[in-house]
Amino acid sequence: MNTLLNDISRLSGLRDRQSMDFALSRLMLNTQLWRFSTVRLLRAVGPLNDQHWLTLASLTAGQTEPRRDHVWLDLSHLPCLSEHLQREACIVTEAVVRHGTGPYLTLFPINTEANVCSLLEVESETALSPDIEAKVDSVLRLYENLQSLLDYGEKDTLTELLNRKTFDSAFWRAAQAQEAPVEEGQTERRGQSEQANYWLAMIDIDHFKSVNDNYGHLIGDEVLLLLARHMRTSFRFLDQLYRFGGEEFVILMRCADHAAATGALERFRTQIAAHDFPQVGHITISIGFTPLRDNDTPSGAFDRADKAVYYAKGHGRNQVCSYTTLVSAGELEAQVDNSEDVDFF
Ligand code: GH3
Ligand code: MG
Ligand code: MG
Repeated sequence: MNTLLNDISRLSGLRDRQSMDFALSRLMLNTQLWRFSTVRLLRAVGPLNDQHWLTLASLTAGQTEPRRDHVWLDLSHLPCLSEHLQREACIVTEAVVRHGTGPYLTLFPINTEANVCSLLEVESETALSPDIEAKVDSVLRLYENLQSLLDYGEKDTLTELLNRKTFDSAFWRAAQAQEAPVEEGQTERRGQSEQANYWLAMIDIDHFKSVNDNYGHLIGDEVLLLLARHMRTSFRFLDQLYRFGGEEFVILMRCADHAAATGALERFRTQIAAHDFPQVGHITISIGFTPLRDNDTPSGAFDRADKAVYYAKGHGRNQVCSYTTLVSAGELEAQVDNSEDVDFF
């Protein structure tokens, strides 16, 4: 019991999601209170009609380091929800699922936020007693509460998009992945060694001040909330969506190339322009974007995307502008920073 309490106090001191997921899997595997041969922490991700299983942490007895799926992995490389019937049953019924006659598989549902369904899957040589199930469940409730606290600190209260605070660490992770694509053998599934391409896009609502002036701040806030909802449906689940305060939104996304990034952003721009917002009617947005470079910095990338937005504002608004294209066309001066070269695609 003492080790479990120590493990729990260590878990509650963590502020990083990956560390917390890994610590939970270690705790579950290494406690003296029960004996599991494998533990897997999984989450159902993707749009409701096309969900897949993302492994957050997987640890087998004898291993020291948990394994997880690469954070920017394409949905199509993950197993479909229906490929694992017991897992599907666990999140649909939100109840413990017991399967097999040795080895035994037991699945515990975890609900960390609305519309996010995670579970803990454990393999054991013997069936779990009700007492052990209750203890595992208690640890998972604690994990849920810790996750909620993280959500509270990382999310913008109006839109529930990520707030500015978490941007820098996500940026460094993406910049690192850009420079060092995942190597063969380091991961388990096909497609993970593809060259990664990361993009930073900045979105600014056109003439938003007049929305506030004409309809009041409350209606203005509702537009921001609805825009955030559109962002969630338009972009992929791995794209990181931020509200940077005011009416400025930022996306950190992974796209194969310049055309794919342009396509995703154009799709969003046209979706917004076509939407009839309650009371306000139609609004438009201007978007600027840039690829992440080698040796990039958050402020450097931000500055390039901002210049592209500024250009869009000065050239009719309601458009997507690429920093790279504008520099190539001589419309913008190339940013010179710690990397000497200019991006070409
Ligand atoms: P532009 O097309 O050049 O971007 O024009 P704009 O009016 O959108 O740009 P500007 O940056 O001058 O104004 C942004 C306005 O956004 C100012 C303020 O009224 C509004 N705003 C900023 N934060 C909030 C907020 O949290 N809620 C609401 N309702 N409005 C906000
Ligand atoms: Mg603005
Ligand atoms: Mg604006």
